[in-house]
Amino acid sequence: MTIQRPKGTQDLLPGTVEQWQYLEETMRSVCRDYGYDEIRTPMFEATELFQRGVGQTTDIVNKEMYTFLDKGDRSMTLRPELTASVCRAYVENKLYGQPQPVKLFYIGPMFRYERPQSGRFRQFHQFGVEVLGADQAVVDAEVISLVWDLYRRLGLTQLEVHVNSVGCPVCRTKHRALLQEFLSTRREELCKDCGDRYDRNPLRILDCKNATCQAVTIGAPTTRDTLCEDCSTHFGRVLGLLGVAGVVYRVNPRLVRGLDYYTKTAFEVMVEEIGAQSAICGGGRYDGLVEEIGGPPTPGFGFAMGLERILAALQVKHLLPEEKPKLFAMLVALGEKAQTEGFSLLSALRTHELPVSMDLLSRSLKAQLKAADRLGARYALILGEEELEKKVLVIRDLTLGEQIEVPLNQAVEEIHKMYQRGVNA
Ligand code: ATP
Ligand code: MG
Repeated sequence: MTIQRPKGTQDLLPGTVEQWQYLEETMRSVCRDYGYDEIRTPMFEATELFQRGVGQTTDIVNKEMYTFLDKGDRSMTLRPELTASVCRAYVENKLYGQPQPVKLFYIGPMFRYERPQSGRFRQFHQFGVEVLGADQAVVDAEVISLVWDLYRRLGLTQLEVHVNSVGCPVCRTKHRALLQEFLSTRREELCKDCGDRYDRNPLRILDCKNATCQAVTIGAPTTRDTLCEDCSTHFGRVLGLLGVAGVVYRVNPRLVRGLDYYTKTAFEVMVEEIGAQSAICGGGRYDGLVEEIGGPPTPGFGFAMGLERILAALQVKHLLPEEKPKLFAMLVALGEKAQTEGFSLLSALRTHELPVSMDLLSRSLKAQLKAADRLGARYALILGEEELEKKVLVIRDLTLGEQIEVPLNQAVEEIHKMYQRGVNA
């Protein structure tokens, strides 16, 4: 039997990879403009990091982690998200000793054991930003603006930005009690997960996708009802600054996010066209996380967005660049002697960083010209026995069908000039 790739993973082939590069490049350029630096952390970490940093009550830790024992009997887990890893790196590398806040971004694969379906994979990719060491509302607003700006640059417009405040541990304790009281008589109706959540983390019942749970929680006290003065001021300031930046948002009191360490601002971005998995970005403030994993008390704010889902949205809206970068010229050499001569010519052209290629199968003239055309080459550089004898190179313009002959010893200079003219045209 042939071996197939694991369920929920993808092979990204040429043609598609260029679209990924375009998306990643746009993300990197927004981050550069906002003054965020890239961080790269390991693909796997000690399991305990995610248990503590993501939270024992979350689906990620309970159901979705790829956990294994290494040969030294240590429990390791393929990273299901990166906020915990970035916080670990911040503590381990003493980034708190640098000028604060530290503004970081990452792009890379994450792993979750989920039921694969459209927009849901077991290996998927996230772009995310984390700001560590600043608790001001302006941080929340800057990061949400960055997301908004990215979507604007990509051409995505039909988006919904939902924001909420889940408060701090003080207001959440009050909310928790009110919520449990509200749900106490209808506990039986909740789904099994929410039955468990009732004691452990009732806030997350508001987030449940089960229709009955959603119905049961209609009219339930929201986190905003119990915000303390500090949290309330903070949230007001965030909304004000989002308005100043021109971000169109909706306050959604049911938005609570699935992770334990979130405090104050939570936000999510939804895009309609891509079906059931419409969340393309989620994030918020996590002032308790760095301490939770053993670091000094440090406020944090960040988000993660799924690249597969953004690409799906860009595809539906025809916002992806279709063209592959084209070859400038293709060497068409006939016979071994010409191939040797041509190989030397290509080596020289490549030192000038020209996009040039050659036939690698010693095919016929016709087949080589066809390949040049298929690769979108502007010119064919033809070298056969006759040309070798006359010490010339034929340069054929494949668009116009015209050709010229240049002395072989001037060919590099000539082609380089043509390339420069093309680049500057
Ligand atoms: P969902 O409710 O869709 O499971 P989530 O709350 O688990 O999302 P986060 O952990 O906040 O998602 O991750 C941020 C983003 O990463 C999501 O908005 C989504 O775009 C993407 N994402 C999460 N899980 C997957 C997955 N299994 N496959 C593809 N993208 C994913
Ligand atoms: Mg999930």
